[in-house]
Amino acid sequence: MIKLYNTLTRKKELFRPLRKEWVGLYTCGPTVYNFAHIGNLRTYIFEDVLRRTIEYAGYKVRHVMNITDVDDKIIRDAKKAKKTIFEFVKPYEKAFFEDLKKLNIEKAWKYPKATKHITEMVRLIASLLKKKLAYQVDGSIYFDISKFKTYGRLSRLSHRELKAGARVDSDEYTKHDVQDFVLWKEKKAGEPSWKAVFSAGGPAFAKATAGRPGWHLECSAMSMKYLGPTFDIHAGGVDLIFPHHENEIAQSEGATGKKFVRFFVEGEHLLVNGEKMSKSLGNVFTLRDIEAKGFNPLVFRYLILTSHYRSKLNFTWESLKAAQNSLEHLQNFVIRLRTERHRGLTSMAGYLRKFGRALADDLDMPEALSVVWDIAHNYNKNPRRYNSKEILTLLYDADRVLGLGLKSLKSEEIPVKILALVKKREEYRKNKEWTKADRVRSRIITWGYTVEDTPMGPLTRRR
Ligand code: AMP
Ligand code: ZN
Repeated sequence: MIKLYNTLTRKKELFRPLRKEWVGLYTCGPTVYNFAHIGNLRTYIFEDVLRRTIEYAGYKVRHVMNITDVDDKIIRDAKKAKKTIFEFVKPYEKAFFEDLKKLNIEKAWKYPKATKHITEMVRLIASLLKKKLAYQVDGSIYFDISKFKTYGRLSRLSHRELKAGARVDSDEYTKHDVQDFVLWKEKKAGEPSWKAVFSAGGPAFAKATAGRPGWHLECSAMSMKYLGPTFDIHAGGVDLIFPHHENEIAQSEGATGKKFVRFFVEGEHLLVNGEKMSKSLGNVFTLRDIEAKGFNPLVFRYLILTSHYRSKLNFTWESLKAAQNSLEHLQNFVIRLRTERHRGLTSMAGYLRKFGRALADDLDMPEALSVVWDIAHNYNKNPRRYNSKEILTLLYDADRVLGLGLKSLKSEEIPVKILALVKKREEYRKNKEWTKADRVRSRIITWGYTVEDTPMGPLTRRR
């Protein structure tokens, strides 16, 4: 039984899927006008953990993540680059999928693109016009927030803050400007546009007008197309609660009259050196920057796993270094288990249950990780009490959620001959034969490896 913190109720609630066959999960995807920064990646990793946790609990997940390939920023930057929006977004889209792969983020079931779902969006606008929840001004169409009685329920905005009748055209606006938001933007010279007739199959509810969709609209149209009018979980970063998710609820529930999403689950932000990432501070990093400094992308994944998704996480290069150290210990432990043949009778299966319970408690990943370390510490204290093979199986099982690639880890990275020497040195050390142990260590070093003694046993690395 999984419990998730639901922004709709501001409480941890028991999660029970709507259908037996699958859990519907929609996560807001990237606007592909640039490389994803490490903040975006934190959110994608949290969403991956969410998905893997649901799968770990035995459910099948239909995960949909949109790709925003038309919006204000894309149009602005494509113009600067003298490219069409399609040419402009291509390399960033490719880079986005590369990042996901490097971070072991599971592939979504669908990655729908905004520009391929204009028809669905136009239809959605037509039904809002028909219900008089939307109105037309010149060639643009707006959502009338005064007509949607529960507007502000997700973000808990007080009605004082609502300025119905005042319109905003921009895709993004601030928390203090709660206004009627744009669903359809009238065509502007030099900008991409689509022809549209706003009829729901029958009469037209607005004058035909060429233009393009507002940003919020795509997520309503595409999530409902693939997951139905009501689905289980919608996730994203906390900045999306308002206005984005609030507006999605208004558009979707306004059109269908049904509950849109059962659980809104939003992850906290990543900070860099204690500050919000911004170009002017020069602290916007991408996965490329992390790799350029010699880190494996999975080290970043590990770092993200060390904090709860509802806590802010402060990124520093030192914290990444510490994460690298931990991940190497864990990898080393896995490689060691593969070579050991202890057949002790004490089982550690209880730890795996504890791991599962931590995850099921609103994805308590720091607690889940600490259980993994408990396994390593206990084993290391007295390997003979345990069954090496069982421990390895437990770790591989935990890795279905951790996603650290433990199973596919290549043992060859540390040759068997080195591992044998490390083992021999351990035996000498246990017998307090220090000179012999040191001699073995020198041999390890000559072979190009180092060995460091840690509470989890010896940590072997290539020099
Ligand atoms: P965007 O491409 O700006 O729409 O953002 C993609 C995802 O990244 C959304 O779910 C955002 O909420 C999330 N996001 C943006 N900035 C950060 C940050 N600093 N930390 C964590 N997540 C973020
Ligand atoms: Zn969205």
